[in-house]
Amino acid sequence: MAKIIDGKAYAEGLRGRIGKAVAALMSEHGLTPGLAVVLVGEDPASKVYVANKAKQTVEVGMNSWEHKLPADTPEKDLLALVEKLNNDPAVHGILVQLPLPGHIDSTKVLTAISPAKDVDGFHVVNVGKLSTGQDSLVPCTPVGSVMLAKDVLGKLDGLEAVVIGRSNIVGKPVAQLLLAENCTVTIAHSKTKDLPAVVRRADLVIAAVGRPEMVKGDWLKPGATVIDVGINRIERDGKGKLVGDCDYASCEKVAGAITPVPGGVGPMTIACLLYNTVKAACAAKGIPQPEM
Ligand code: NAD
Repeated sequence: MAKIIDGKAYAEGLRGRIGKAVAALMSEHGLTPGLAVVLVGEDPASKVYVANKAKQTVEVGMNSWEHKLPADTPEKDLLALVEKLNNDPAVHGILVQLPLPGHIDSTKVLTAISPAKDVDGFHVVNVGKLSTGQDSLVPCTPVGSVMLAKDVLGKLDGLEAVVIGRSNIVGKPVAQLLLAENCTVTIAHSKTKDLPAVVRRADLVIAAVGRPEMVKGDWLKPGATVIDVGINRIERDGKGKLVGDCDYASCEKVAGAITPVPGGVGPMTIACLLYNTVKAACAAKGIPQPEM
C-alpha cells in the first residue's frame, strides 16, 4: 500500500510559514505583501477559486483586493485595470482568473501584467526565465507538485520522471522544474505511443491530463511516486465525485507514494500563490526572500 501524500497538511504548514514570514516582513521592513485578483464574469467555479484565494490571502496577513468585472467588460477596460494595478506600489501580485470571456484575448491580457507582479508565472518573460534556469515567478500548481515530490523523496537527482500532459499551465512548467532538480524528464501527451510503457519507466509520475482515472496501477513501476494533478468531476453511484487522472484504487496498490484527489495537489495551488506574492513583494522592495 502506498504512502498517502497529504497535500492538505503540507499546504497548511506552508501557509503557517508564510504567515510568519509576512509578520516578520511587516515588523522588520514595514512591508505588507498585497495580491490583487481580477475576475471577469460569473463562472461559478472561478467565483469559488477567487473567494478562496482572497480568504487565504487575508488569513496569512497580506493585503487582498478583488476586482469583479461584468462578463461584457471590453478588453480595453480590463487592460486599463491591469495597467493601474501594474502602477500601484501596494500591489505586489496580480492574478487575472482564467478562463476569460471569449471576446477577450487572454494572451494579450496575461502579457500586459508586469512580469514582476505575474504571480501566476504565465508571462513569457517568466516562462523564458524558468526555461533558462533564471530565478522567476513559476506557475503555482507545478511549484506545489514538486514541493510534494521533494517532501516524500528528498533529492530528486537522477530520477526518471514522466510528466503526462504538455499544457503551459502544468505540464511544461513542471517538466522544467524537474529538469532543474536533475531528473531525467519525459513529457508524454495525447500523441505519445504506448503511454503505459513510457509511464512504467518512471520513478516519479506527474499526471496532468484532465482524463478521469486514466493511469492504471499496472502502468506503474512498483514503488513509483505518483503526483496526480488532475481534478475531474464525475458521476458515480448517482453522486457527484472528484477524481484524479490516476485510478487511485489500482495505483495505490503499486505506487510507493501517491497524492489523493481531493486533498493532494489541489490545496497546494493557493498556498504557492501566496508564496509567489511574498517572493514578488520582497523582490520589489529589494530584500532577500525569507525562508518559507
Ligand atoms: P490541458 O487540457 O490544458 O492539458 C492536458 C494535457 O493532457 C495536454 O497537453 C494533452 O496533450 C494531454 N493529454 C490529453 N489526453 C491525453 C491522453 N489520452 N494521453 C496522454 N496525454 C493526454 O489541462 P491542464 O490545464 O494541464 O490540466 C490538467 C489537469 O490538471 C486537469 O484535470 C485540471 O483540472 C487539473 N489542474 C489542477 C490544478 C490544481 O490542482 N489546482 C491546477 C491546474 C490544472
